[in-house]
Amino acid sequence: SQSNSSPNPYSSTPKVLSGKPASGARMNATFVTLARNSDVWEISRSIRQVEDRFNHNYNYDWVFLNDAEFDDTFKKVTTALTSGRTRYGKIDSEHWGFPDFIDQDKARKVREDMHERKIIYGDSISYRHMCRYESGFFFRHPIMLEYEWYWRVEPSIELFCDVAYDPFVFMAENKKKYSFVLSLYEYVETIPTLWDSVKGFMKQHPEHIVPDNAMEFLSDDGGNTYNHCHFWSNFEVGNLDWLRSKAYVDFFDHLDKDGGFFYERWGDAPVHSIAAGLLLNKSEIHFFNDIAYYHVPFTHCPTGEQTRLDLKCHCNPKDNFDWNGYSCTKRYFEMNKLPLPEGYEKEQ
Ligand code: GDP
Ligand code: MN
Repeated sequence: SQSNSSPNPYSSTPKVLSGKPASGARMNATFVTLARNSDVWEISRSIRQVEDRFNHNYNYDWVFLNDAEFDDTFKKVTTALTSGRTRYGKIDSEHWGFPDFIDQDKARKVREDMHERKIIYGDSISYRHMCRYESGFFFRHPIMLEYEWYWRVEPSIELFCDVAYDPFVFMAENKKKYSFVLSLYEYVETIPTLWDSVKGFMKQHPEHIVPDNAMEFLSDDGGNTYNHCHFWSNFEVGNLDWLRSKAYVDFFDHLDKDGGFFYERWGDAPVHSIAAGLLLNKSEIHFFNDIAYYHVPFTHCPTGEQTRLDLKCHCNPKDNFDWNGYSCTKRYFEMNKLPLPEGYEKEQ
């Protein structure tokens, strides 16, 4: 059914606001977290940091999505920690499960084989449902339809610096649609035929490929092969209308039909990244140097000492991944012909 948002008895509206209310434009935006009940303490750590570093001044909503019902503990704890309205949605079984065109035997053999080869999450069914959900459905959840902008937050992340302005306002004012803080090379074993599927899409839907796209970030040979660069999607600030656009939905549907979410282990990070790279103008993809972030095992600590002092950062600049050889962030700067941020040589 579509009426899958459960009422939240712990949400007092209006809340007693702990920070100063936001001044200026307020965006139609929300935090969004996909989580299980067992993630409650790990997501609590993330919420506390996001609230302390940013949201206590803004009180944006927080949407929690789950393939099962959230329990009372999860709702009670997360509502107590957030400054904005909390909302809890159950995911429709049509959006979390095997589509009927998937050959179950083939999918099972893949999981067994990946288990033998010790590929991370290679034997997991739920991880595949999660990746497919984040790739194709979270933005179409009935609760999410009410919003234009989202900021994705996962359990156990850290924010090391104050966020001194509203990233949603920044995105809107600067005509951005997608953003990242960390980029890296995808584990090839999980996506051997993803690029073949992407090429099929490009052939079938040339009308969706934007002329001034970011192909240069994704491919070193003009699109013949994928270089495996992707934006790490456990952090995203992005535009939901873009994800709901015909271009994005056609892209997702094309990939989905090719079956790689189950016959391989396609992640939502390369899927979102390739979509951003081909369906957006490259100027619509933003790198937030000033949002300091950690998700195991990588850190983005802002380049530039003055930035770190101004924003009261507590990350060690030596941990910054950006100028490491396994990061793709330098390629993003090169593609946009941007000078590398001041101080990057000292911090690589
Ligand atoms: P990793 O970051 O790739 O190691 O994967 P995570 O375990 O962090 O999962 C990514 C996101 O999906 C996190 O927000 C998890 O809480 C969430 N998640 C993963 N698996 C499930 C699941 O089976 N059910 C639900 N409801 N959420 C899940
Ligand atoms: Mn995670």
